[in-house]
Amino acid sequence: MEEFKNIIGNEDAKAYFLKTLDKNKLSHSYIFEGPYGVGKNTFAMELTKYILCENKKENIPCGTCPSCHMIQANTHPDVITIEKDTKVTKIENIRHNIIREMDTKPYHSKYKIVIVKAADSITIEGQNAMLKTIEEPPKYGIIILVCENTAKLLPTIKSRCITIRFNPLNREDLAAYLNLKNIQGTRRELLSKLSHGSIGVINDILEDDQYLELRKQSIFYLERLDKADLIGVYDLVKELTDQKDLIERILEFWLLWYRDIAVVKKTGTSDLYYIDQEKHLLDMAYKLTYNKVSNNIDNIKTALLDIKQNIYNTFVIENLLLKLKERKK
Ligand SMILES: [Zn+2]
Repeated sequence: MEEFKNIIGNEDAKAYFLKTLDKNKLSHSYIFEGPYGVGKNTFAMELTKYILCENKKENIPCGTCPSCHMIQANTHPDVITIEKDTKVTKIENIRHNIIREMDTKPYHSKYKIVIVKAADSITIEGQNAMLKTIEEPPKYGIIILVCENTAKLLPTIKSRCITIRFNPLNREDLAAYLNLKNIQGTRRELLSKLSHGSIGVINDILEDDQYLELRKQSIFYLERLDKADLIGVYDLVKELTDQKDLIERILEFWLLWYRDIAVVKKTGTSDLYYIDQEKHLLDMAYKLTYNKVSNNIDNIKTALLDIKQNIYNTFVIENLLLKLKERKK
């Protein structure tokens, strides 16, 4: 559809808002709920154009009026975005940015729109403080609470909002996004599988140059360990401990690898993380007993904890590699 053409997927949300805008029946408070990276914040920003554009043509924002321009540049005085503070969103942030903003009439348009990112990180105190704004909103006020998990929101807040559900993107939508980014070949296939329908995850991986390379390299280390004699093992210990900054991530990839082998042994080949190495996983699942796989997982977890607590790396890695190499159990 022509409408919301900048938004990939989430057709239900598009259809809902087109109807609502058409009937001029916007509510004052919404919850946008859904997993990480599926377009909730992007949708909220795009929606503000649909609400505030001064020159809509057949319900579609023009993209060129002052409102559209300001929204695009993130400078619209009547569109307020609340970022989360650190781990939680504190009450001062709520008071200053939600309550005070909502009490102030819009400067430029008919509406004042407040988008609260990561609303599930707002403390209970903060949620209580914004309750009144949500219960008795000014007629110009629209508040959008964006969150991954509504379980962390007060029931009184949830009952006052209309919840719009956002879902992971389906195969075609992901393909459309990867086309947009011009990503082809095996990289494309891999990204689409690793993403679990989240554009956010795809972007995280794309921004991290090392990700795919390190993922591959981590499994090479395990293969080398398998074939190594004692001297080879100590070469590996040295090589791994020399990469102080990467060692935790390598161990996390190992965890996913053995988790996949456990999945293959128990349930078959669905929902694998190393889906691009299915044959290798099947070989490993055949070679290792379930107990051995589960011990490996425990040993890697222990090593990771030790490293996070700054226990001397060489000792931890040496101990781990020798345990992983033990044949039976
Ligand atoms: Zn416009």
